[in-house]
Amino acid sequence: MIGIYGGTFDPVHYGHLRPAIDVYSELSLSEVRLIPAGVPAHRDVPLASSTQRYQMLLLATQNINALTVDDREIQRAGSSYMIDTIRSLQADFVDESLCLIVGMDAFINFETWREWQAITQLVNIVITCRPNFDLDSIPESDLKGYIRGAEIQDKDKFLASPAGHCYFCPVTQLDISATRIRDLIKQGGELNFLLPDAVIHYLLQEQIYQ
Ligand code: ATP
Repeated sequence: MIGIYGGTFDPVHYGHLRPAIDVYSELSLSEVRLIPAGVPAHRDVPLASSTQRYQMLLLATQNINALTVDDREIQRAGSSYMIDTIRSLQADFVDESLCLIVGMDAFINFETWREWQAITQLVNIVITCRPNFDLDSIPESDLKGYIRGAEIQDKDKFLASPAGHCYFCPVTQLDISATRIRDLIKQGGELNFLLPDAVIHYLLQEQIYQ
């Protein structure tokens, strides 16, 4: 099973990378593909260009075989919709099942994603969460109905399912956001241990968020 992990990555940081590795090893995935959005559909235009965000992902993942970077959304014209990305990945990886990895904060808004119900049928979904996550914290909704019907708690059964199921995967909790990093750069603050050194070096050299 291949993990797919979309985001703006403006810039990529350890709050993306460590949970991606946690899911990779917890589920013995063949790889996790980090997919930067070209034109994000659900938020403001990123400050870094798509080429810069792609470059920062390459720097962050160099020598880490578990994590690969996929540029299909930045190559595609128009807004980046995950449903299009999934259809494109399925055409490329006909023999592999896919799981979409989504942070809990993003998953809460999943019903606003284009064709979200089609996504739930085409792939499995891994929701990264706190170790003591309580399903009752998600309000009653169509999304909650999906979880009720689709959740599998047994990892091996989840991995045996080609699509249509979801799994809550506890990951390392890191209170890091790209927003905070962009703010810190503007203030000339300390960036060490929030994101990889190579990314820090690149974004300062390119003067991206100053
Ligand atoms: P911004 O601060 O600009 O909104 P972000 O740091 O939240 O950005 P995104 O690129 O928007 O990063 O997020 C991509 C994915 O990474 C989403 O699924 C999100 O839930 C997840 N994610 C982001 N930060 C963390 C974190 N600290 N821990 C776990 N997951 C995270």
